[in-house]
Amino acid sequence: MTAYFRNHLGAKLLASYLAVIVVGAIVLIIASQSILPVAFNRHMMGTGMAFGPGPGGMMGAGAQAGSGPAATGPLFADYRSSFNEALTYAGLAAAVVALVLSLIFTRSVLAPVEAISRVTQRIAAGRYDERVQVGGSDEIAQLGERFNQMAGKLDRVESMRRQLIGDVSHELRTPLTAIKGSMEGLIDGVLPANAETFQQIHAEADRLNRLVDDLQELSRVEARSLELQLRPIDVLSLMHAVVKRLGPQAASRHISLELESPAGLPRVSADEDRAAQVLVNLIGNALQYTPEGGKVTVAARAMGDQVEVSVRDTGIGIPAEHLSQIFDRFYRVDKSRSRRAGGGSGIGLTIARAIVEAHGGSIRAESPGEGQGSNFTFTLPFAR
Ligand code: ADP
Repeated sequence: MTAYFRNHLGAKLLASYLAVIVVGAIVLIIASQSILPVAFNRHMMGTGMAFGPGPGGMMGAGAQAGSGPAATGPLFADYRSSFNEALTYAGLAAAVVALVLSLIFTRSVLAPVEAISRVTQRIAAGRYDERVQVGGSDEIAQLGERFNQMAGKLDRVESMRRQLIGDVSHELRTPLTAIKGSMEGLIDGVLPANAETFQQIHAEADRLNRLVDDLQELSRVEARSLELQLRPIDVLSLMHAVVKRLGPQAASRHISLELESPAGLPRVSADEDRAAQVLVNLIGNALQYTPEGGKVTVAARAMGDQVEVSVRDTGIGIPAEHLSQIFDRFYRVDKSRSRRAGGGSGIGLTIARAIVEAHGGSIRAESPGEGQGSNFTFTLPFAR
């Protein structure tokens, strides 16, 4: 019995209603029985008739108050029993109405809770498209709405996971197929066992290595386990350091790499290594997608309570229809081109965006069109 009550919300609610009804009735009985004689006497005195203790009970008009307890005569006894009868009927009627109302209320509370519980079980079994139907706007309806939001998020995470597995297998297959093909060529004697063949195999293995590194980094940033060591940093010196680091790469490709920034920019709150990683990524891309003789400009300026850093190039540009997708993982405008050019796997910008957003900033790409250069801009908040 106790276990039944412990495990059923409906039984608990019903028991609490019954308890309130019983306590109410007890209070009513005690109060009415103690108040009744006094009220009876007062009323009789008011009408000029008070009842003495005698067996007849009826005393003459003008009887003195204090001549003994008045509310004991047969008239009072009759009155009390009819009062008790009325009280009993009223109490029973009230109890029945309260019970019916409590049953209706209990059902209206329990039905949506049971619906949520059923849907939870189905979601746990992997059916992420299930949603609860809850009407109204009370707390239970809000719970249902939040539950649906959570289910929607789980659904998206699950489809992202599925897509990620598909994408990763596809990305891994390409270099693996190349390595396998070269090895078979070597075994069959179709390919010469010379430095060039080994170099090719090495380049593909290298590609695999980079892909795995990128994937590891991506899983870290997407799992939001990115631990940022935030501190006030000077954007200009950070830009200087990165430009210096990538100088030789720009020089080897005959691209001029320039820095443009006003002095006295406020410091930003950022993780220095992570912010540098974003810059390296953007400048690296600019260098990669800009032909010889081009120019890459790194600039910064204060905008509101943020510093905006931009990397502009005079390179191949990005067609408008690709602009909204280049931050998606594995997205490349021209897959064959970026592969030939020793390009990455299309993860670099996804990682850059995750890092910038973890700092509370935003990142965007602009390009007037193919062959007309690109401009990548990201923001970092001022240090407080
Ligand atoms: P990848 O490692 O392939 O460069 P990213 O995520 O860094 O991957 O970039 C995604 C795609 O966006 C690239 O494959 C390229 O097509 C395009 N892209 C990025 N930066 C530039 C740029 N500066 N100019 C032209 N295209 C770019």
